[in-house]
Amino acid sequence: MTTSPHVVVIGAGTLGMCTAINLVQQGARVTVIDANAIASGSSGRSVGVVGTQFTDPFEILLRVHAMRQFDSFESAGLRFNRIGYLRLARTEAQMALFHESVKMQAEAGFRSRVYQQDELTTLVPHMDPTGLAGAIFGPDNGFIDPHELCMLLAEKVREAGGSVRQFCKVESATRKAGGYRLETSKGPVDCDMVVNAAGAWAPQVAAIFGQTLHIHPERHEAVTILLDRPLDYTMPMVMDLVNGEGTGLNFRHEKPSELIAEVHKVSSPLPENPDFYNEQCEEESKVLLAELLLERVPDLPGARLGRGWAGLYPMTHDHRPFVGPVDSSEPTLITAAGACGYGIQLAPVIGQVAADWALHGAPISVPESERLAPTADRNVPLV
Ligand SMILES: Cc1cc2nc3c(=O)[nH]c(=O)nc-3n(C[C@H](O)[C@H](O)[C@H](O)COP(=O)(O)OP(=O)(O)OC[C@H]3O[C@@H](n4cnc5c(N)ncnc54)[C@H](O)[C@@H]3O)c2cc1C
Repeated sequence: MTTSPHVVVIGAGTLGMCTAINLVQQGARVTVIDANAIASGSSGRSVGVVGTQFTDPFEILLRVHAMRQFDSFESAGLRFNRIGYLRLARTEAQMALFHESVKMQAEAGFRSRVYQQDELTTLVPHMDPTGLAGAIFGPDNGFIDPHELCMLLAEKVREAGGSVRQFCKVESATRKAGGYRLETSKGPVDCDMVVNAAGAWAPQVAAIFGQTLHIHPERHEAVTILLDRPLDYTMPMVMDLVNGEGTGLNFRHEKPSELIAEVHKVSSPLPENPDFYNEQCEEESKVLLAELLLERVPDLPGARLGRGWAGLYPMTHDHRPFVGPVDSSEPTLITAAGACGYGIQLAPVIGQVAADWALHGAPISVPESERLAPTADRNVPLV
């Protein structure tokens, strides 16, 4: 390989664009190729939340590296809306985990605090805390616009001499001496390395190379909530899941008189076809969302449902992304996909680890991140 390999990144969502920026910053020649427009996949359908309120040290460590890059993207012009993140607990066992999380986050340099049930209305005056034990709150967490992030990174990649090709589908690939020839809908592209960052389509792209990748596209729905007048406080991101996972909802401030909410239901066991799925929010989900929202925050001024939509979480068996080679004997074919419901907040660190694999043959800059490699024990079907 030359000192400046040509890497093709397949997919211009958050994972592909964050991989591309990490690659060009280390001198690689990069071509990003997307079958559609930049951020037109899951990334453009997400609700853009970036948070650190986790109870697992590895999840927090990954976010330390992600947040460093978000800081640099913000310096480059990305708007990071620090509205805070409030994760609600229904049990004392969850509260005990939140106390541990506060300690872990403090060691990692993140501010957070546990709130008791009777303090919650100081953060969200409309909240009915019935059934809650309390919450954890991170004042510096917030949301970004993933489309804006991808466009910003595309500009930076181009400035560094890379290219981003849209409406150009990778259809087949052949291995050749020292690399690959990719056949695309706009002609062949030769390269030394490939990063599969095709999100819910990553299994299809893996199949082009004769690889099997177990990513299960799972449908999720979101709706805007319109209000008659602006709230006199900023609604933080509120994560309200029954028993910490499964069903429930999350909601946050979007504009002065608008919230955005995502409903979590027990999902279908069948994987969605990313080329043919219902991209609208179902009526039944809107009803569920309205009921849950009104229970938790009654009396929002004139609250009514606005536009709804659906998108795909690219799920893996253990709910952690695949970053690294599927086959260790082919280190020039790297996967960066399967980010589940965290592919906005984790994209920068996934991009960093993917670039490490591509340029250094190992994830050298993020401790323990070899755990994200799609090894045979992890790359298994979802039950
Ligand atoms: C409703 C909803 C809310 C969410 N909220 C959040 C949130 O608040 N925070 C968070 O962190 N995450 C959230 N997520 C999850 C997040 O959106 C995903 O994890 C993330 O967007 C995945 O990014 P990606 O780059 O892997 O995939 P994508 O954004 O889907 O990008 C993959 C790209 O690959 C391209 N592609 C596919 N096949 C080919 C081919 N053969 N040739 C060329 N290009 C190809 C596609 O066109 C696509 O643009 C949410 C998701 C949904 C659906």
